[in-house]
Amino acid sequence: MQREEMLQKIREAGIIGAGGAGFPTYKKLDAQVEHIIANGAECEPLLYKDRYTMLREGKLLFRGLEIMQEITGAQKVTIAIKKKNKDIAEIYADAARKNGYDFFIYEDVYPAGDEYILVYEITGRRIPPGGIPLQVGAVVDNVETIVNIARAIDENQPVLDKYLSITGEVKEAITVRVPVGTSFEECLNLAGGLTTNQPAFLTGGVMMGKVQDGAENPVTKTLGGLIILPQDHYLIRKKTTPKETYTRIGHGQCDQCSLCTEMCPRYILGYPIEPHKVMRNLLMTGEAKERASLWAQYCVECNVCTMIACPEGLDPMHICIDAKALLKEKGLSRTEDELEILFRDVHPAREGREIPITTVYRRLGLVPYDRHNEFREVDFMPQKVVLALNTHIGSPAKPLVQVGDTVRRGQKIADVAADQLGAPVHASIDGRVTKIENNFITIEK
Ligand code: SF4
Ligand code: SF4
Repeated sequence: MQREEMLQKIREAGIIGAGGAGFPTYKKLDAQVEHIIANGAECEPLLYKDRYTMLREGKLLFRGLEIMQEITGAQKVTIAIKKKNKDIAEIYADAARKNGYDFFIYEDVYPAGDEYILVYEITGRRIPPGGIPLQVGAVVDNVETIVNIARAIDENQPVLDKYLSITGEVKEAITVRVPVGTSFEECLNLAGGLTTNQPAFLTGGVMMGKVQDGAENPVTKTLGGLIILPQDHYLIRKKTTPKETYTRIGHGQCDQCSLCTEMCPRYILGYPIEPHKVMRNLLMTGEAKERASLWAQYCVECNVCTMIACPEGLDPMHICIDAKALLKEKGLSRTEDELEILFRDVHPAREGREIPITTVYRRLGLVPYDRHNEFREVDFMPQKVVLALNTHIGSPAKPLVQVGDTVRRGQKIADVAADQLGAPVHASIDGRVTKIENNFITIEK
């Protein structure tokens, strides 16, 4: 198959980054690179979906990597995993050797799955501030995305199902593969139901994830974890603190100890990000505030500063998020000349400053939820799915169906114009379209 044909098939299959970012995969692969990195270094606590994707779909993972090599011309392929999953490297040692692929086994630290960190650790190269791996000759894709590539090319199968871990306040912590669009409520049923009367839903992960209201929300192509915690859990209170509150407290209590900066994973990799300087903007207005906000420009919102570093319990990450919004509004960013000076060498003490995952569990009050999480094979098709048309980066997909239409699982029901960045969406169950609203299509049996 020709390269262009393969890219077109990947686009048509609606493949986007399955690890959270949602970047359309055909676009990412339309390049010549030296390195391919399969990101299986799931670093958020409590999640196991990458582990089970690799364990259950090894053949497709290796086939997907082969396809990616054909498209990008990459000479080097590395599968990145955490130390806790090192049995995977043993299981696939022969297959990796046969293909000339390497395993990179990273310590059980947070945030090991950050692509800036993986690219640096594996290639020795640093992505330019605000840049992408391609700029240093690398492509990084989540392991589930790579499996989806193999399915698209060899089986003509679009993205219809999603691996995710369901954990926290549920009877059984499990990892499952369910149709995209399945409601959280159905996921909870698969996990035996709730063990709290006042649930809060955290999607994505405890560190970088968001609190989402409502059990009727659907599983998307990028969701890797559904974590249920009591509404009064420390993490939920912290993540839902109103802006006026964290701003007021930060304004009054930051003593400029700079621990948030000293522990920032991007700062210790040499990037010009210094949250303690951003905190100063709470005392400023006008141009001074804008200048101070520039220290937030390359914040990746990993939450280390807020959840782990700050001894005063302040929220530098959200102050950085607000500062980035200000920069966007004003159209401000670092100049090339500034970056020349401010993008420094990697901090010599970097290795001692990575956050052991056990510390994350302890600090976030997650030890009681640290349970064995098995894969659960479910013979399950929901009665109803709600499919998001804008999970991916780029333009939202436009519906190709109308309310009342009958659709089949696998049928394309929404698409993005060929000249725009985006990805099509497919029906994940057989049924009838019952609603098209606010960038969602509902299908019921
Ligand atoms: S959230 Fe905090 S620790 Fe993480 S990149 Fe941003 S400033 Fe650094
Ligand atoms: S760690 Fe907390 S108190 Fe110290 S500078 Fe950062 S925000 Fe301020």
